[in-house]
Amino acid sequence: MHELSVAQEIARTVLRIASEKGAKGITRIEVEVGKLTFLGIDQLRFWLEACLEGTIGAGSKLVFREIDPVVRCRTCGYEGGIKEVEVDPALHLMLPSLECPTCGSTDVEIVSGRDCLIRRVELSI
Ligand SMILES: [Zn+2]
Repeated sequence: MHELSVAQEIARTVLRIASEKGAKGITRIEVEVGKLTFLGIDQLRFWLEACLEGTIGAGSKLVFREIDPVVRCRTCGYEGGIKEVEVDPALHLMLPSLECPTCGSTDVEIVSGRDCLIRRVELSI
């Protein structure tokens, strides 16, 4: 139910922006979802549509973009993507590994991929 609370937060924020601008409607909402948030895009879309139902945001186009994780290694200075490890081969379940792909150190800092951000909101005024 993580997706529901995130969707509610997005809906609240875009509706606040729309009302501050005196908009009549919301035509498009673009959201960036970091892979490390482990949010399901389909569920997020479902809940966001549900949260916007009956508001000026109903029927707006929802665009979700997945953001690949980027880490910075404190040991060797590597900065870039991370590798994914298969945790359950039977289920083909892949999880990002927070380990430096170059030196294997776990002393890494997450640069991006942990956030869910509203990138853009298009309003009809
Ligand atoms: Zn490293």
